[in-house]
Amino acid sequence: MAADLEMNEIHWLMDMFNTVDVGLVVLDRNYKVCIWNGFMENHSGLLPSAVKDKDLFDLFPSIDEKWFRSKSESVFVLKNRSFTIWEQQPYIFRFKNYRPITGKADYMYQNATFIPLTNTLGEVSHICIIIYDVTDVAVNKKELEDLNKRLEQVSQTDSLTQLFNRGHWESTLHQEFLRVKRSGGNSTLLMFDIDHFKKVNDEHGHSCGDEALRHLSTLLKTTLRETDIAGRYGGEEFVVTLLDTDKQGAATFAERLRALIETNPFIYKNAKIELTVSIGLAGNSNDFTRHERWIEAADKALYYSKEHGRNRVTAYGDIKNDA
Ligand code: GH3
Ligand code: MG
Ligand code: MG
Repeated sequence: MAADLEMNEIHWLMDMFNTVDVGLVVLDRNYKVCIWNGFMENHSGLLPSAVKDKDLFDLFPSIDEKWFRSKSESVFVLKNRSFTIWEQQPYIFRFKNYRPITGKADYMYQNATFIPLTNTLGEVSHICIIIYDVTDVAVNKKELEDLNKRLEQVSQTDSLTQLFNRGHWESTLHQEFLRVKRSGGNSTLLMFDIDHFKKVNDEHGHSCGDEALRHLSTLLKTTLRETDIAGRYGGEEFVVTLLDTDKQGAATFAERLRALIETNPFIYKNAKIELTVSIGLAGNSNDFTRHERWIEAADKALYYSKEHGRNRVTAYGDIKNDA
């Protein structure tokens, strides 16, 4: 009777062991496989008989042996449990991901627990490794991260021109304002506005106007350096922060941009549309108490260009005395 019960219990245990939805592997002190459950068999395609007493690293050369050993040694020696998570190491055993909903992952993401198994002498003679399939969690988290990145990008971008929108551009200017205040470097703010843009809209329609804004943004992008920060400030008004650029360098950049726009008309429904811009620039100054003052200075210089014939560049430093 007692023997029957024991046999039954072992049978049940084996059943559970083989059908449970986690991987169970027992290794001896020399990393030879002692136990290999149904989950491991299903995902690896290797029968328990094929792995029994085999060296784990021979069976799975893709396991980072050095890392795996150092993880396991602490379990053998310190008799403590140890954990690995997919964020650190996506998997221990490279298994194909077969789940239809998470078909976006190529392999199964795994968390694992390493458990010390002590013998009757109290020594850790074996370790048990439990493998959890966390592909769903990992894929969801990655998708959420991608989505957040995308959302952040969208919230910072002007949809018509793909330049930074005013809010985001201004926050980068604020950062730059604080940086140059601390470090005392030179940066220059450039602001420009299309000349007689109303005429383009009036004569060729609003969508031609939109096309003009895109055309101009494309030209602008071709002249920018990696560190320049460009944005659409308003309707047909643009801004560029030129980092580590003094007045002379900024004036050269502005003149090149002005000439580029003047000499590159675009075609809209067989009409040649010519554009010019008026530009104002202002270097950072200790006189500016807030970054808004810096913008106002560039805006004043821009206004001066408008007042003095348009299609030209004005530096704030050259007008502030007679302003
Ligand atoms: P100025 O040389 O003095 O700058 O003349 P302007 O006609 O460009 O001046 P103003 O600033 O008065 O007019 C700007 C026009 O730009 C008015 C507005 O209809 C147009 N505009 C602003 N945003 C957009 C836009 O997103 N698309 C189009 N098509 N037009 C826009
Ligand atoms: Mg204008
Ligand atoms: Mg305007």
